Amino acid sequence: MNIDKIYLESELSKKVMELGEKYTDELKDRFEVIDRTAEFNQMKVLRAMQAERVSDTHFNGSTGYGYNDAGREALEAVYARVFHTETALVRPQITCGTHALATALAANLRPGDEVLSPVGKPYDTLESVIGIVPAVGSLKEYGVSYRQVDLLPDGGFDLEGIKAAVNDKTKLVTIQRSKGYQTRPTLSVGRIGELISFIRGIKPEVKVMVDNCYGEFVEEIEPGDVGADMVVGSLIKNPGGGLVATGGYIAGSEECIERCAYRLLSPGLGKEVGATLGLTRSMFQGLFMAPVVTASALKGAIFAARIYEDLGFDVIPNGTESRHDIIQAVTLGSPERLIAFCKGIQAAAPVDSFVTPEPWAMPGYSSEVIMAAGAFVQGSSIELSADGPLKEPYAVYFQGGLTWYHAKYGILRSVEELYRRGLIDIR
Ligand SMILES: *Cc1c(COP(=O)(O)O)cnc(C)c1O
Repeated sequence: MNIDKIYLESELSKKVMELGEKYTDELKDRFEVIDRTAEFNQMKVLRAMQAERVSDTHFNGSTGYGYNDAGREALEAVYARVFHTETALVRPQITCGTHALATALAANLRPGDEVLSPVGKPYDTLESVIGIVPAVGSLKEYGVSYRQVDLLPDGGFDLEGIKAAVNDKTKLVTIQRSKGYQTRPTLSVGRIGELISFIRGIKPEVKVMVDNCYGEFVEEIEPGDVGADMVVGSLIKNPGGGLVATGGYIAGSEECIERCAYRLLSPGLGKEVGATLGLTRSMFQGLFMAPVVTASALKGAIFAARIYEDLGFDVIPNGTESRHDIIQAVTLGSPERLIAFCKGIQAAAPVDSFVTPEPWAMPGYSSEVIMAAGAFVQGSSIELSADGPLKEPYAVYFQGGLTWYHAKYGILRSVEELYRRGLIDIR
């Protein structure tokens, strides 16, 4: 078969290739479920674009102040429809997910207010934003306090703890959908909804922000469907569909988003300004592609889980549990395996396939880190990428894949690198 031939020519040995075929077959039914979700979300995005009468004049973009940018306004209206919120702020001026989250927080908190995370520690970069670790410009410096309630050991919500933590000062609750790089379970949108209802039962006027990074289009509903006041994410992850060069979004209530616009741009200016510089077309097109791209990444994550699980490694989530984000962790147990895994992912990339990733001391990390990314957009983690700190238990975090076929090849190539070095046994 031609496919066998091209795989053999692409440095996969027969045994690894057969392993790939075995799991591709085995996962057919699960992939069909993922495809149905993508099909639904494709319709959701399509209908939003049609309802907003998206037209090629919307792709022109603006310069300077960016007044009267019809494309920007249509794009934001499309996001609001897709995320089922009143409005949205979708901008290239939002640099990344952290910036979007920092904007949403700072915009909606005032000195004396308190932020509550009822789902444990937030994403690493938010520690500086909130001031959990000392940082110049943190919310803490502006007199905003922080409280955290950890999840119970079984991953459940600590309802008693949350009840005790909500107080007069509690203004905003932040809920992270994805586990990020922790080992807790990722929250389904349904569970986020239960948590929001519970908290509103204690304090109805509290604002709820959901960090939606890596979660977009994995399910048929989004946090806006279950009462979140702000839903926040990065355009170089799922909703950018791999096509967007830079940007972030905050979808939410008129009240919260207006404050976000004044914070991001300037008091008095708000949503009316912000040039789009010709980037709107990629933002529309990326959103249009996003359901299918997310499905590809999800298939890659499940495929990796199944293969590595059967090779004898601990994987989170495991190969059979339901998925609420696109991140896959594999505990490889040794630095040699971690490095070999990343080399395989890198060698499978469309960009920089010829470079060899090496561990390096990254600012902010307590040990060396190795990263593999051969991406069209710098740091884009909807593209096939892997990274892990060189310390026990030598876990690799793996995500992305703009197409399922590329994700599949990348994972098989990682297996190949381990196999060739005698670091795994294939039965
Ligand atoms: C990626 C991510 C962020 C931060 O996004 P950046 O674009 O890297 O700044 C925040 N929260 C979660 C859960 C993420 O996955």
